Amino acid sequence: MSLTRRILIAMVAGLVIGVLLNIMHNLGWLAQGAGLWFNNLLVDGVLDAVGRIFVASLKLLVVPLVFVSLVCGASSLGGHSRMGTMALKTVLLYIVTTAIAISLALLLGSLIRPGDGVGLSSDSTFTAAAPPSLKEVVVNMFPTNPVQAMAEGNMLQVIVFSLLMGIALANSGEAGERVRRWFEDMDKVVMKMVGILMELAPWGVFALLAKLFAGLGIGALLELGLYFGTVVLALLLHCFGVYSLLLKLLGRINPLQFFRHLRPVMVFAFSTSSSNATLPVTLKTAEEKLGVDNRVAAFTIPLGATINMDGTAIMQGVATAFIAQAYQVDIGMAGYLTVVLTATLASVGTAGVPGVGLVTLAMVLQQVGLPVEGIALIIGVDRLLDMMRTAVNVSGDSMVGLLVAKSENSWDEARFNQPRESAQTAA
Ligand code: ASP
Repeated sequence: MSLTRRILIAMVAGLVIGVLLNIMHNLGWLAQGAGLWFNNLLVDGVLDAVGRIFVASLKLLVVPLVFVSLVCGASSLGGHSRMGTMALKTVLLYIVTTAIAISLALLLGSLIRPGDGVGLSSDSTFTAAAPPSLKEVVVNMFPTNPVQAMAEGNMLQVIVFSLLMGIALANSGEAGERVRRWFEDMDKVVMKMVGILMELAPWGVFALLAKLFAGLGIGALLELGLYFGTVVLALLLHCFGVYSLLLKLLGRINPLQFFRHLRPVMVFAFSTSSSNATLPVTLKTAEEKLGVDNRVAAFTIPLGATINMDGTAIMQGVATAFIAQAYQVDIGMAGYLTVVLTATLASVGTAGVPGVGLVTLAMVLQQVGLPVEGIALIIGVDRLLDMMRTAVNVSGDSMVGLLVAKSENSWDEARFNQPRESAQTAA
């Protein structure tokens, strides 16, 4: 059975068993002793441990993978002007897709009006942290200490350091060539580690989902159904509509094949709720299945995991509209524009880890003068939405990587068109 299929089965099994455990627990079908066993040993014991080990081992590969693979990519680009245009295209596409995402969310939020009738008024004095200024975001990209940047997992700083090192390698003659070969070998080794981990992924995915759904209350889902539904609708439209259109129009690339290859990546993102933890799988898939050359993938994908969060922007757009409606505040056109700008900027400066979107939402609300405690309204369903929006975040990264690769003549079309199973064997 192919790995993709095993991972999908694990996902469904985890969901079903988790929900069943939850129902059994809530209905009190478990006698007291059994209930204790259920909580301590199974859910908080085995499932929690397996899930956490799985996420930890994914995260452990992020820094070595980004470093090694980006040094290889940058050294083969050699600091020519191509690098500049590639970076420009990438960043531009990331910003444009995020702006489309949030506009779509605001549009749906104002059409469906999920917050009408909630009827709240605010007298709060709660203040959120100010959003980072563009200057700070840029200055903070430059590390004072690369080891510290790696230890803290500061991706933008690791990217800057790796780019510099790659360019230096390309321009250091024979010595550079020797070191570059070492990095290329190392890249194969780290990719192998990702491969090994992916073989174990079905167990990790199963444990994460079963544990999460066993503890997830679905009561909030009923109350917030309209909000939840609006976010999901916007996510689906953006992921399968906007991305497919962009692939077709800008790249003449078959979107169906794209999503077929991307399935395991989306499941990883869904079960870990973290673009960062999914990064090793996204990168491996981009290179080995989507056919994106290492030179492009090693730059665009890690950058995207940090600065590109379309799914998160969508949640923030709908949430802002929802909270404005609930408190009966009209934020006006200028307010909407501010939301687009702040949410885009906020997503640049924050890493892709679970729940971070909720934190940056506070900044967005603050900027347009909406009560920050409105977040309490939507927190009940955010865990579930986090999973879904993370899947959209990583799809956006891969989509942009593919488009940039195509435009840079760094796309292996034959590999992309391979049926899934043989792509797997090739990998
Ligand atoms: N969990 C998301 C990610 O890692 C970020 C968020 O929306 O909270 O991409």
